Amino acid sequence: MFKSVKKLYPMLNQKSGKRIIFESGLFMRSFLTCLLLIVLNASNLCGQIVSEPSVADRPYEEELKNKLEQTYFKNVSEQVFTIEYKKESKIGFHYKFKHSFKGYPVYDSYILVHLDKTLKPYLVQTNLKEITKEVTETDFKGQNTWFKTDGDLVAARQVLEFNVEKGQNFAMVYDRYGRILSSNDPRLYFFKKDSMVSAMVYLPNPIVTDNAKYGGSYVDNVNKTNSILDNARRKVRFPATYDSGKFILQHDKFRIKDLNPPIEEPVQPTDTFFNYKRDESGFEDVNAYYHIYAYYEYLKGKGFVDLIDSIEIDSHGENGDDNSFFDPSKYPFTLEFGTGGVDDAEDAQVVIHELGHSLSHLAATGTANGGERLIMEEGQADYLCLSYSRSLSSNHPYRVFSWDAHNEFWDGFNGNTTLTYPERSGIKDIDREIWSTALICMLEKIGREKSDEIVLNYYYHQVGNSNMPAMARVILKMDSMLHGGKHVAAIWQCFNDRQILDTVPWYLIGVRDLVRNPDYKLINSYAFSLGLEPAEIKIAKNVDLSSVEIYDQLGQKLRTIESGEPLIMHPEDFVPGIYYIRLLLMSGKNTEPLKLIR
Ligand SMILES: [Zn+2]
Repeated sequence: MFKSVKKLYPMLNQKSGKRIIFESGLFMRSFLTCLLLIVLNASNLCGQIVSEPSVADRPYEEELKNKLEQTYFKNVSEQVFTIEYKKESKIGFHYKFKHSFKGYPVYDSYILVHLDKTLKPYLVQTNLKEITKEVTETDFKGQNTWFKTDGDLVAARQVLEFNVEKGQNFAMVYDRYGRILSSNDPRLYFFKKDSMVSAMVYLPNPIVTDNAKYGGSYVDNVNKTNSILDNARRKVRFPATYDSGKFILQHDKFRIKDLNPPIEEPVQPTDTFFNYKRDESGFEDVNAYYHIYAYYEYLKGKGFVDLIDSIEIDSHGENGDDNSFFDPSKYPFTLEFGTGGVDDAEDAQVVIHELGHSLSHLAATGTANGGERLIMEEGQADYLCLSYSRSLSSNHPYRVFSWDAHNEFWDGFNGNTTLTYPERSGIKDIDREIWSTALICMLEKIGREKSDEIVLNYYYHQVGNSNMPAMARVILKMDSMLHGGKHVAAIWQCFNDRQILDTVPWYLIGVRDLVRNPDYKLINSYAFSLGLEPAEIKIAKNVDLSSVEIYDQLGQKLRTIESGEPLIMHPEDFVPGIYYIRLLLMSGKNTEPLKLIR
């Protein structure tokens, strides 16, 4: 899978002439420095200006790990990184390195490193609990982790405990004296408010199918059915497992199973037509199963097959509450759908939302912590739910859980809030709409196929304690990697609408305060784009140039070339992508941007 290290470290190019000055004032000569500077926007510079490794044949991962340790563990010894996982997506490879000290992991401390398909690192995300001074704390019998408190590193024990009162597992961390250091509910909830056969199901629910409102015949009515709700069902086909004369709702990767009360054993029909109505338990079994199957097939077609792994689905679970969840702490993973109010498994929007948490967990395992990270977790699951619903019907395009909620039981959510990021409330179930609305805006501008692809690739880049502006830039980065940045301006606008990002930069949409006809020209740009020859800016003598600025397509100023220096761009200094060049004149005005493609 991984190529030799030589591919990663192209030779530092020896060029004659004056070197272009980096904006940071640094020559990023080493991979080490490069890693430090791979925050999203400086990443274009990394990859090509690195030194040749000393041992060319050392395995790449070992080399990467060593460089990371040299970079991040300067002050205190006995710290190491180990690979917790590596995943492959359409854009490249995604590593999670876990941080350990003196043989024990440091709780919730890790780093994500992303490499493109050529194995060049393009993004490093840190969630490190930094150890800045020597640690005096000693270990104790039973210790299995270190926990970073306000300043000190404390020897600790982490256990998963079942809380009887709450009926669920909590990840607990204790110190040597049995005092609680941390308590974390690993489940992802939405509180009030997750041989061919054929079956009748909702696509995705009766409210959307019939463009109806909750009320009249469209009510739960203690799970009773009526002819209108029967007629809102549609016929679908899917494979089920055939065993001893019965059909079982079981697939390689998921199955229906009774896990928690209410006790409803999954149906095992003997006939190939599963014609259940909503008041029969078989209906929720089939409805949950079918939609997860359909989504699995969709993911398979898009190359995301690894995002579904071993799920047990209880379509009548959660002790009958009106609540559903994905539980990543158990394996196989579990999806439980409550039966309070409208049965959750009757609404495919709920099914896909909960499945969305499972995809997110598999793409970026163990990163779901920190307030805004969890808000985005909900918002993007709402996005997947709406995107799926829209693929079935254009009705109620912004209503999340339009059958399970938006009724007498609870309010549900929407994907078209007017709330902006600076106005966020700090309440998860309000602020999630800011994120889902921005993502739905992207879907409307660039279409479901590309938008889903961006969101699913983005899933691998989630990190604990992240925030919306940082993650919005990751989304932009996904477009630049998947589509050459074609939609950056459109997507940026969606984030600007919610004030997650500032105004779309001038060079993406047009310019102000322009000099229209200065006498200059970009030459040799074609040979530059092929990596053959340098490009050059030629300027007439009468142009009073102050400086030249080079930007990447995400708005980061990469370089400034001062007047008097050679206005030459060497292709080796640029990773493939789109760049914008602005000429600043002594008058304070500037030119229209020149576009440079590498
Ligand atoms: Zn959720």
